[in-house]
Amino acid sequence: MRGASQEVNEWIDGFLFLANRSILDFLNTKPVLADGPTELLSSFRDLERWLIASGMVTSPKTKAIVRSWRNSADATAFLEQLVAFRERLRKAVIQIESGSSPADAFLAEVNLLLLQYPRHTSLRKRNGKVIRETLFEPRKPSDLWAPIVDATVDLLTEAESSRIRKCESCIVHFFDTSKKGSRRWCSMNICGNRLKVAAYQRRKREGNAMAN
Ligand SMILES: [Zn+2]
Repeated sequence: MRGASQEVNEWIDGFLFLANRSILDFLNTKPVLADGPTELLSSFRDLERWLIASGMVTSPKTKAIVRSWRNSADATAFLEQLVAFRERLRKAVIQIESGSSPADAFLAEVNLLLLQYPRHTSLRKRNGKVIRETLFEPRKPSDLWAPIVDATVDLLTEAESSRIRKCESCIVHFFDTSKKGSRRWCSMNICGNRLKVAAYQRRKREGNAMAN
């Protein structure tokens, strides 16, 4: 969770992290920047950077495995499928945001991925106590589905789905963790200030019009 440091830490290694949910940050890998919609995952190397920045890939061993796939055809094919999935996920998220539920076909797709790429558990000892850990040792690029699908399941089953929201001014999605649940913008830096300035100028114009 990136609480207080959120405003300064919105970009990590060229990616937006302001959604409070990694799968929504994943959705935001195609933001609209000054030059229009921008694909931030245009190569497997980009995905590798995103997986590390998001914390989905952490151990040196896994990082090395993922790095070794950079030039593989399997990795390129996986990225293509993943980006297509991201757009179907976008549709599902927009449906949730509008108060309805995702299409059955999308749930069926996620269920199939869950069967094919299950999360494995392993046991470890820490300070003499046995703890449960998620085992993530990808052996091929498509094994990277596991953390993506896991995070997708968390989002789809989110109890406070009304906190899943889209920025009022751009296409960035986020999960509102504010106390009041009144977050409206992706971020103060990106859209908030711009909208505040616009509202101020509008008020000023209207004020001037009334004065005349
Ligand atoms: Zn925005």
